[in-house]
Amino acid sequence: MKIYKLYNDGFIIKTRRATVAVDLVPGGPNSHPFIADSIFYRIAGHCDAMFISHKHGDHANLKVAKAFAARGKRVIAPKGLWVGVDPMIEQLLVADTAVTIPFDELEMTLHILPGHQDDIYNNIYVMDFKGCGSVAHTGDQWNEDDLVWIDKVKDTYRVDCLLLNCWVNSMERTIRGFNPRVLITGHENELEHTIDHREAYWMTLRKMDKMLSLNVPNVLMTWGEWFEYKK
Ligand SMILES: [Zn+2]
Ligand SMILES: [Zn+2]
Repeated sequence: MKIYKLYNDGFIIKTRRATVAVDLVPGGPNSHPFIADSIFYRIAGHCDAMFISHKHGDHANLKVAKAFAARGKRVIAPKGLWVGVDPMIEQLLVADTAVTIPFDELEMTLHILPGHQDDIYNNIYVMDFKGCGSVAHTGDQWNEDDLVWIDKVKDTYRVDCLLLNCWVNSMERTIRGFNPRVLITGHENELEHTIDHREAYWMTLRKMDKMLSLNVPNVLMTWGEWFEYKK
């Protein structure tokens, strides 16, 4: 798999069979986005589907979702987001239990775990690319109560690469719960947050320095970089 990191907590995962995007946003104000609409239209053409973790603007953007839908690509959104906008945009989730969706056309299985940022629905996607590896994306996971089941994710799901928001509530417990082979943090330096919540790259480095005993390597990338994972 090739895993591309994009602004802000966006990722594209490309296997030999499928190309899937998570939480792609242009960033910046509507009138002057950091990434132009035309680029997203082209990116949508190269992807097969997009999954949105939750409704916040640094993860969910209707223009990008419509670009995918316009090109016939499925968009999976959390409960309550963009209802009735386009038949290609589906709300799937997740009240209290995980759901599994076969994506036969992409030769993958999608598991949606019922996460939350505080009390906001935050779909955690576990994407099983069947033989090519599996990837989990945690969106803006934060809710304290969810840590009880996050502790046990590894008992049900095999996760090769964990795409983790760098300021998640208890980084150590979340990494232990998913037990990935490789950690790739995201959400550093979100430019629309004020400085105090911009989460610099050095903060991720400092946090990881305290967790060497977990023995999970962290691939720290910036926007536009990619990492290749081989099963
Ligand atoms: Zn959020
Ligand atoms: Zn966020």
